[in-house]
Order: sequence, then C-alpha cells, then structure tokens
Amino acid sequence: VRDGLWMPSVRLDRANTFGLPAEAEFVCRPKHLDELRTVVAEAQKRGLEWWVMGGGSNLLLGPQIGGVCLMPAITGIKVVVETEDDVTLDVGAGVNWHELVRFAVGQGWSGIENLALIPGTVGAAPIQNIGAYGVEIAESTVGVHVLRCADLGQELLPAEACGFSYRSSVFKTTAKGRYLITGLRLCLSRRFVARDDYPDVAQELRRMGLAQPVHPAQVAEAVTRVRRRKLPDWRRFGNAGSFFQNPVVSTEHFARLQRDIPDLAGYPAAKGYKVSAARLIDLAGWKGRREGAILVWPRQPLVLVNTGGGTASQVLTLAERIVNDVVRRFAVQLVPEVQLVGISHAISAESSAQDRQG
Ligand SMILES: Cc1cc2nc3c(=O)[nH]c(=O)nc-3n(C[C@H](O)[C@H](O)[C@H](O)COP(=O)(O)OP(=O)(O)OC[C@H]3O[C@@H](n4cnc5c(N)ncnc54)[C@H](O)[C@@H]3O)c2cc1C
Repeated sequence: VRDGLWMPSVRLDRANTFGLPAEAEFVCRPKHLDELRTVVAEAQKRGLEWWVMGGGSNLLLGPQIGGVCLMPAITGIKVVVETEDDVTLDVGAGVNWHELVRFAVGQGWSGIENLALIPGTVGAAPIQNIGAYGVEIAESTVGVHVLRCADLGQELLPAEACGFSYRSSVFKTTAKGRYLITGLRLCLSRRFVARDDYPDVAQELRRMGLAQPVHPAQVAEAVTRVRRRKLPDWRRFGNAGSFFQNPVVSTEHFARLQRDIPDLAGYPAAKGYKVSAARLIDLAGWKGRREGAILVWPRQPLVLVNTGGGTASQVLTLAERIVNDVVRRFAVQLVPEVQLVGISHAISAESSAQDRQG
C-alpha cells in the first residue's frame, strides 16, 4: 500500500449528495491511469473488493462499506479533432460534469447544454446515460475510455458498443463491473441548433425574452433556472435526484391506466409507453410525506430528501412503501434509478422493512 494513496476508514457523509452517514474501509483517489492500475492491481492482490464513486450523486450508501472506494480523479479536457462543423474532445473521468458543460457552452460548442447542472462526474455520465430536457449524453458520445478490470488493458469503447438506452447502458447491465471508466470522447457541434422542444425549457426561454435562442449558453441558462426552481439544492436538502426511473408499461397496460387517469401522459418507448413515475407517486398521495428524516419532495415527488440526520434504512423503508403502494394501485413496478452500495437488500414490491431487519 503506497502512502497517501490508500486512506483507511474514511467517512463519506459529505461525499454523497444524499448526506447519508457512511464509512468506507479504504478510499483511493487515483489521479492518472497508472495510479488507477496500481490501486486495482493492489486490491486484487490483497483480495479486497473495490467499488467506484464519482460525485456520489446517484448513490444510496450503506453505513459501513467494506473494500476500496475508488474515486477516479483523472482530469483534463483535450481537443482531439476540430473541423468547421464540430469538435471532438477527450475528457477525464474526474472532471465535474457541470464544469464541462460550462466550458463547452463558453466555447460556443453545443450538444450538452440541456444537461447543465446535473451533479456528478464525467466518468459516471455514460453509466446511466444521463439525460434531461429531451437530450441524453449518448447523442454526443463517440466512445468511452475504459480500463478493463480483467487485465487492466485500456480501450476506447465505441458508442455503439455501450448499449445506451433510457437511463441505462452496458455499464449498468451486461458489462456491470467489467470496466472502470477513465474518460469520455464527445463530439460537440459548432453549429448551434436549439433543443428547446421541452415545454419547461421553451417557456423559460420565452420568459427570458429568448424565444429563439442563438447560443448554447442561453439554453444552458434556461435549463439552470428551471432546475433551480424545481429541484432541491442537495447542499441544503440532501438527495440523489430522481430516486426512481420512469417505468415503461405495455401498450395494453397504458390503455388501462389511461381509463383511470385520462390525462396520464405516455411517451412511446421500445416496449410500450414510458409514464411519469412522479405522477404515479403523486396520485398515490406520497407528495410531501415523510419517513423519519426522509421527505418526498413536495415540488418533485420523484426526489426523496434527507432533511437532516436521515439514514439509508429510512430511505429504504420509505422507498419500499412507495413501491408497494404504486404496485397495489396501478400494477406498475417502480425501479430505483439510484445505485445501492453496501446494502444487500434490493428495493422491490415483494420485500418489506421486516425482511431487511431479518
Ligand atoms: C439534484 C440532482 C439532480 C439530478 N438530475 C439528474 C438528471 O437530470 N439526469 C440524470 O440523468 N441524472 C441526474 N441526477 C443523477 C446523477 O447526477 C447522475 O447519475 C450522475 O451522472 C452521477 O454522477 P456521479 O459522479 O455522482 O456518480 P456516482 O453517484 O458517484 O456513481 C453512480 C454510479 O456510477 C458508478 N461510477 C461512477 N464513476 C465511475 C467510473 N469512473 N467508472 C465506473 N463506474 C463509475 C458508480 O459505481 C455508481 O454505480 C441528479 C442527481 C441529483 C443529486
């Protein structure tokens, strides 16, 4: 173990945006590829489990997490190719996502301006194919730089190999645990075409007197204003963004739901219709309700908030009550968007607080 690289017994309370109490057995912050390789090789040699944490904004952490928490701190934004139309960039996994958006719009490059103010790191962005206001990172991604865990070899996985879909990719599914993401290769456009079809963004742009935006910074600003209004600031109200994914239901199921809820919106998806989880949670009466210190955010019921002193167990209990209720009322199974670490219990309609204790 190299001095200064491995830190034992590290509290992560301030490193996760939920602000939940958690302690990691070890933490390492490798600043470049070789350091990352050394740490992983060392962990493998010592038979220690390792897991990865970026900005901790999509995680539900258990109180004691064994093994090594890797926090890739590889930084840098490098232009790889530049043409009249676009620019291709390599960005380190440890770069803050919103800083990248600010940098890009500052250069007048467009493609990620709708993703302004999403917390977290560049390395985590492809994992759940971050998306907001009608845009997903998959659209600008040329490839993902990875370190293969099996042989510590380096590779640029082309976007087509990443299996991007709504809030998902191979990194979360078929290739889970196979790679460490070390960077992202993005292609951004020099020719700005506003993606302002999302009602909230269009409305905000009109409010700003910019019904026809001419620069990506204007869209980023509109998105930032909308987000500040709707979402709790995690620095004051700990949260991990949307706790659940929007569920996709079959066409028949959607028709049945619409019979009971005529104004329920549905967006065509690969296997039916995507419906708003927030709407279902709201209809089930959960908006503004709490479990211990955990509150269902009144302005956006998809967000669970730690009002102070909350625990992962309280979050799980509340999440499960919501899941059970939504299944009972609408026969829709909500699936968490947040990733559980150091928690052996999965959130599902069948499980209960009692199972967890047992
Ligand atoms: C207030 C708020 C608003 C949000 N809004 C949105 C939104 O609009 N759209 C959206 O899509 N998400 C949103 N999120 C969720 C979150 O910001 C994103 O999922 C983000 O990409 C997570 O980045 P992170 O660095 O914090 O990842 P973490 O939470 O630290 O990790 C998330 C997952 O990625 C893995 N991981 C992280 N880095 C790496 C790496 N380098 N290599 C391999 N695995 C890695 C972790 O192991 C974990 O499984 C929001 C969260 C908050 C708190």
